[in-house]
Amino acid sequence: APSGEASSIDKHIVYSRHKDFDLRSQTVVQRFFERASMWPNLTAMECGLTGRKYTYGKLRDLTRNFGSALVRMGFKRGEVFGMVLPNLPEFPIILLGAAGIGMPVTTVNPIYNVEEIARQLQLSGATVVVTISELAGTLRQVAQLCPEIRRLIVVGKPEEGFVSFGEMLQDPGNLFDENIEINPMEDVFALPFSSGTTGLPKGVMLSNANVTANIQQLLHPTAMKLTTPPPTRHETDVLQEVYVCILPFFHMYGMVGVMLTGLDLGAKMVILPRFEGDSYVNSLHQHHPSTLHLVPPLVLFLGHRPDLKLDAFRRLHTVAIGAAPLGLAVATRFVERFQKHDLLMQEGCGMTETTSVTHLSPVINNQIGSFGEPLSRTKVKVLDVDTGESLGPGQHGEMCVSGPQVMKGYYKNPKATEETIDSDGWLHTGDMVYYNEQNQFFIVDRLKELIKVKGLQVSPSELEDILRRHPSVLDVAVIGVPDDAAGELPRAYVVKKPGVALSKEEIAEFVDAKVSHHKKLKGGVHFLDAIPKTNTGKILRRELKIMSQ
Ligand code: AMP
Repeated sequence: APSGEASSIDKHIVYSRHKDFDLRSQTVVQRFFERASMWPNLTAMECGLTGRKYTYGKLRDLTRNFGSALVRMGFKRGEVFGMVLPNLPEFPIILLGAAGIGMPVTTVNPIYNVEEIARQLQLSGATVVVTISELAGTLRQVAQLCPEIRRLIVVGKPEEGFVSFGEMLQDPGNLFDENIEINPMEDVFALPFSSGTTGLPKGVMLSNANVTANIQQLLHPTAMKLTTPPPTRHETDVLQEVYVCILPFFHMYGMVGVMLTGLDLGAKMVILPRFEGDSYVNSLHQHHPSTLHLVPPLVLFLGHRPDLKLDAFRRLHTVAIGAAPLGLAVATRFVERFQKHDLLMQEGCGMTETTSVTHLSPVINNQIGSFGEPLSRTKVKVLDVDTGESLGPGQHGEMCVSGPQVMKGYYKNPKATEETIDSDGWLHTGDMVYYNEQNQFFIVDRLKELIKVKGLQVSPSELEDILRRHPSVLDVAVIGVPDDAAGELPRAYVVKKPGVALSKEEIAEFVDAKVSHHKKLKGGVHFLDAIPKTNTGKILRRELKIMSQ
């Protein structure tokens, strides 16, 4: 690039206000073992339905046993481990046991259907997969489609053809090598899937160093409000942070932003396997969380739930919100209902590709409606979408981020990696934002195709691929349309082949039978004569969005 261009691209960079911290070169599991041994007798995980509990010490021991059992079964560093699990108190034992022997873990949404699960396991090349007994039948079908899977493991009651998780925990643990040579910068800890700015879901390579950095950034003393100091060996659990974990651990917000961060500060985590209004409210009444981790639809839910007593929030100091834009009305309703003068509504923003979080609202003087400021060691710039020039306060452009939490790249997909992370290491987020004079950021729009339903990703390309398989469909485009409860819902614009009879219902049924619940075409089906496109054939989604208003 001509020299003038380079300087205009980097003229305005927003740096973090938080001090740099010492990035420690550790694996996620080494860090967890170190932390867990500081408070072995505190409760780490508790099932919100059955009361089944694990202390930090027990979690550490069982992690070792599970990893050792995997080694005994012949699994090795570098082979990919698949998890198709709802939230369970045992989740960290499995995740950290597999990661502890150097296996990258790919976490799959357990509500996915056979084809959706198989696609992720095929693309990631998983050789062993764990699930619950309720999903054993699904996983048997998945295994037929994935020849690389050598073993299936089941949590819960025994299943034909599955190794029992309970039996694996009986392993003496002697094959788990805590000093295994894992390179934190290079070795992948997690391989979640995300469609990024365009196309189908891809594996996101998050190194051990990405994850430990993001945990440290989140727990930076000036980034988070922790009224209770981390407990020490001698304290009782009275001072423990308490989380009621409803966000799914397969997503990075749940895995890193909630579970691994919680484990790092010695929190007690109450686990609910699925969202169900009554059990969630019961758990809030019973456990008095100190921090709530929510997505906007849950803020809406709690703001309107009549039987939720204020006493449930007597220890609450922070409500952390992220994954999708938080509407002002929804936030205001929540704050007015649960009036607590010291309650911090802290919005965060990030992507799977940035391990979980890049921005968090400041603890003091936060502004509802802003998703906050860059975390420590995170740099941000906003680029003009036409000229690529970096912009100052108040101007709308694409947000680019750089920091130790930015992924290594997409798995076996250097082209998609190059399109997302430029040669200077800036990740182009596909989010249209601006920042104010105080360096607080605001979302304007999403430039990328991604649709978010209740905070979960839906890839338009995936739905378009399915629709193109319908014999009467000539052309198609899928976009997200706004919805009060879900945030967005997928809508299809369809061009019929000439002379065919095809109803909207038929199209919706065709898609809905092939996808999991949140991807269904609940935003409707509309017929068009032609899909608006650029002269290179790219769908003009913006025109469709304007048309949908
Ligand atoms: P995911 O990879 O599933 O975490 O999705 C990342 C995307 O979610 C971001 O690029 C944003 O478009 C959106 N997102 C995350 N947090 C927020 C937020 N606080 N406000 C608005 N959009 C958000």
